[in-house]
Amino acid sequence: MPTAGDAAATALTPPLQLASPDGSGSDPGPYDPTLPGRFDSAAAVFFRRFQFSRDIGIDLGTANTLMYVSGKGIVLQEPSVVAFDVERNVPLAVGDAAKLMLGRTPGNIRAVRPLRDGVIADFDAAEQMIKSFIQKGNEGRDVQAPRLVIGIPSGVTGVERRAVREAGLAGARQVHLIDEPVAAAIGAGLPVTEPVGTMIVDIGGGTTEVAVLSLSGTVLSESVRVAGDELSDAISVYLKKVHNLVVGERTAEDIKIRIGSAFPDDEHDQISLDVRGLHLLSGLPRTINVRAGDIREAIAEPLNVIVEAVKRTLERTPPELAADIVDRGIMLAGGGALVRGICDLISHETGILTHIAEDPLLCVVNGCGMVLEDYKRLERVLDTPDFARQSI
Ligand code: ADP
Ligand code: MG
Repeated sequence: MPTAGDAAATALTPPLQLASPDGSGSDPGPYDPTLPGRFDSAAAVFFRRFQFSRDIGIDLGTANTLMYVSGKGIVLQEPSVVAFDVERNVPLAVGDAAKLMLGRTPGNIRAVRPLRDGVIADFDAAEQMIKSFIQKGNEGRDVQAPRLVIGIPSGVTGVERRAVREAGLAGARQVHLIDEPVAAAIGAGLPVTEPVGTMIVDIGGGTTEVAVLSLSGTVLSESVRVAGDELSDAISVYLKKVHNLVVGERTAEDIKIRIGSAFPDDEHDQISLDVRGLHLLSGLPRTINVRAGDIREAIAEPLNVIVEAVKRTLERTPPELAADIVDRGIMLAGGGALVRGICDLISHETGILTHIAEDPLLCVVNGCGMVLEDYKRLERVLDTPDFARQSI
């Protein structure tokens, strides 16, 4: 995982200086013609530009963007945030460096999460962010990938899809969009090309996507704008209401990750955590002790919205496919799948065995990567037509 130090080094202040994606230090190591700066002859530039451009897969998540480069693997995992110089309208930083600026910007800088709620709220910012990430993943080289596969939330509309595609064309000759649940299912190892029904539930930051897939296609899907961020928000609301304590978004997320849970467990419910915030009544900083059981109750409502989305999708599933899902179980992906006990909650509420994918945060980008590496077999999963979607 990149550190704050890496983030500072990768801020997009011209001239573009990029950390090596594999995290290696300043030692240039053996000659690699795909890396810039060793030979600057026209022939070398040509060599780099045309001989070594690689296919790229991007998970354009509401919280995190990840990038896969064919033959290399995952080269980038950073928050989906971009910071702009307001006057010149140019991006100053993307990813980790931009996230550090969220909530801390002076008037002339704007830091935004362009996909926060699963729709593209800010086209310009989204476009700049995609371009910057592609450039960053390419180690600053001005190369065009032969093929780019971008996973986007399935609630993104036709117009927004065109915008994403156009932004992608800045860095690749061919751009394909893939619905995130489909990519997540592939990345989670589900047999999406076979004639069996599978259900994937991708709980991200801004959206939860539930989909039933079979024969390389989305049979039905649903996207709700309740996911990890809403759980953190519910914790902030609880602390303010019950303890008169105001905490920032980061603190609330930290509490969720450390002691949040979805299903009753006597032992875990007793665990407690000291939380620092601003006490509303005295106006001074204060530390209070919160119990895991109370946090579980605080996030029960948004968790229920997620469970209801799963139930609704199951109800709409054709019987043969529903039978397959009962046999094979439901697969969870996305950062929200890491909430303790969420698997038990969904199993309990639906009566269907539920599994968590290995590396849930990496499923979508790994799925995009698998499509690139096995393009002939998986090509059919790309560019789902609009009629197969439903957003709430
Ligand atoms: P997206 O695909 O929308 O970018 P991700 O799949 O990257 O979202 O998940 C981000 C969400 O997962 C955030 O809300 C984050 O707080 C949450 N998350 C990440 N790790 C954990 C964890 N260990 N426990 C609970 N939630 C987590
Ligand atoms: Mg995601």
